Amino acid sequence: MILLKVNGVSKSFGGLKALNNVSVEVAANTIHSIVGPNGSGKTTLFNVVTGFSRPTAGTIEFKGEDITALRPSDITFRGLVRTFQNVLLFKNLTVLENVLVGRHCRLKAQAVHSVYRPQWVVEEEAANVRRARDLLELAGLAGYESDLAKNLSYGEQKRLELARALATDPKMVMLDEPAAGTTTAEAENLVDLLRQIRDMGKTILLIEHKMDMVMSISDRVSVLNFGTKIAEGSPAEVISNRQVIEAYLGKRWLDAQA
Ligand code: ADP
Ligand code: MG
Repeated sequence: MILLKVNGVSKSFGGLKALNNVSVEVAANTIHSIVGPNGSGKTTLFNVVTGFSRPTAGTIEFKGEDITALRPSDITFRGLVRTFQNVLLFKNLTVLENVLVGRHCRLKAQAVHSVYRPQWVVEEEAANVRRARDLLELAGLAGYESDLAKNLSYGEQKRLELARALATDPKMVMLDEPAAGTTTAEAENLVDLLRQIRDMGKTILLIEHKMDMVMSISDRVSVLNFGTKIAEGSPAEVISNRQVIEAYLGKRWLDAQA
């Protein structure tokens, strides 16, 4: 089943075509990666799909519904959530509070309930805190609940952002370079974590430069170059594609395989 359908999407910034008639289909319960050189339009694709910017042409469907004109919060509510290339956290809130912010879109309680607190509100709050703690444990951040987000390492901040995204109860998460700036050990743990998330029934769209990670984890890979999709297929198909080698992987990659 196709969960996300990007149909002929273009995005121009003045004279620059950051995306040029890009179509991508993401199947449910898979890990699908988007790779390509810097500036090839990967983040722009994420922005357009999640409502942070509007496409110049084309449409986006999620679970069969046209979401092209929806706001980010409405898209999150429908079960599609993303993280950012440059971590976007509430740096002066605690780790636990950051995850609770992600829960907010699923709460029934309203502002009035911070004063008037019937039993169901108290229970909802307790359940939310339990759920947030479970997600922090999944993300390898148990024990950090009371730390300020800004005091975490970069790799930990990236995982916290992922935990917050999961707190929205998504069907699909889109991760913009989750392993960038992390150590090799952290990247290996991240591979396990992403597999666990997929095995929980979720779908992952991943932007990542670490090719060994992309190779080991992806069901399918799409390659962008100058805003155009130049290849798509299994990891093995994509890395042996001459155009992909020339545009992205480079001569060093070829030599390493020889
Ligand atoms: P990637 O994530 O693949 O590195 P981006 O999607 O960030 O690439 O950028 C694609 C191209 O669009 C780049 O040339 C970038 O400079 C340009 N671009 C991205 N966002 C904007 C913007 N808001 N205004 C103008 N140009 C932009
Ligand atoms: Mg980017």
